[in-house]
Amino acid sequence: MTPSIMTDVVVVGGGPTGLAAAIMARLAGMSVIVFEPKTMPIDKACGEGLMPPALLVLEKIGVDKLEGHRFLGVRYVEGDRVAQAEFSMGPGLGVRRTVLHDALTRRALDLGVQIRPTRVRTWSQNQTGVVVEGEPARWLLAADGLHSPIRKALGLQAKARHPPRLGIRRHFSVRPWSDFVEIHWHRDAEAYVTPISEDTVGVAILYGSEATATGEGEPWDRWLSTFPALQSRLGEPCSKPRGAGPFEQRVSSQTHGRVLLIGDAAGYVDPLTGEGVRLGLDSAQAAIDAISQCSEAHYSKKWRALTRRYRWLTGGLLFIRRHEPLRTRLLPLLERWPKLFRVALDALNHC
Ligand SMILES: Cc1cc2nc3c(=O)[nH]c(=O)nc-3n(C[C@H](O)[C@H](O)[C@H](O)COP(=O)(O)OP(=O)(O)OC[C@H]3O[C@@H](n4cnc5c(N)ncnc54)[C@H](O)[C@@H]3O)c2cc1C
Repeated sequence: MTPSIMTDVVVVGGGPTGLAAAIMARLAGMSVIVFEPKTMPIDKACGEGLMPPALLVLEKIGVDKLEGHRFLGVRYVEGDRVAQAEFSMGPGLGVRRTVLHDALTRRALDLGVQIRPTRVRTWSQNQTGVVVEGEPARWLLAADGLHSPIRKALGLQAKARHPPRLGIRRHFSVRPWSDFVEIHWHRDAEAYVTPISEDTVGVAILYGSEATATGEGEPWDRWLSTFPALQSRLGEPCSKPRGAGPFEQRVSSQTHGRVLLIGDAAGYVDPLTGEGVRLGLDSAQAAIDAISQCSEAHYSKKWRALTRRYRWLTGGLLFIRRHEPLRTRLLPLLERWPKLFRVALDALNHC
């Protein structure tokens, strides 16, 4: 009998983080199998704004020339008040999730990544490796999303600190009216408008689960009617509403033996600052570096360092959001001191 050659890395979950990790592993000379049960390209509730550092990483791993719509920065809107700031390091890109996923899949397949259309249900680990759906491997990267079954099975889930927040998104056939990601700021919710193409914008609405939208109809219609000025600018919807949440996922450790958590599975605060894909890419690279340098024990520390600014700034913004006297002062403050806005934006989008 021929002995089977052990795969270096099994990635569970073929979302943007899992596929990017597989590409990075191949670029580091490792063999990789990705398990992903959903039909590709995968769509998902997302604001679809790729921040400038995410574009740099994608370019580095050979995923470039993405079709989308550039945006220069972020603009907050509440009634007549408008505060905006541009990114110092160049534009971001609004990209349909399916376009991003398709580009990542093609790059992964070109590099020889095996993608198996299987939902992982059985897996185990010992000191020298893992076995995933009968496949022996040295390492398991869990990129299985916000509600990661692997994280739960390992007992790494910690209790959330804040009331749950949820999100819902939809696309509209309308010419983007702004070169910024526009955030419509309201007491009960925020609506993010991302230019996606010459004739499409995506709208993602984020809200606390304790808040109830007034108005009639399905949750999407009720939430959109919270933003009448925005609603009047949108054309016909060209996608179905998709929801996600609760967002906050606290994790006691990003590593457990031969298993490393990456992307949303490793912990998440909120999409409020438009991060997510970028954190997924950064955590994927940190995990691949850790296993190729045999420093997996330091991966959790590395993860905490690379997500620190995101966790602090997003946590700070959520704090402001929860306290009405602070929330109502945010826009006047940013309007008056645009430099402060820019500094915060640059702090978040550092490399
Ligand atoms: C409303 C909203 C707006 C957002 N806006 C933005 C934004 O503008 N910009 C941004 O960068 N980020 C944004 N995000 C965050 C971003 O969408 C996520 O951070 C990103 O999708 C994380 O990618 P991931 O690959 O880690 O997880 P996912 O994309 O969730 O992928 C996980 C994959 O794992 C698979 N899986 C799960 N269990 C198994 C199993 N047992 N076996 C095999 N496969 C499995 C799933 O099928 C899925 O495909 C937003 C999120 C939300 C909810």
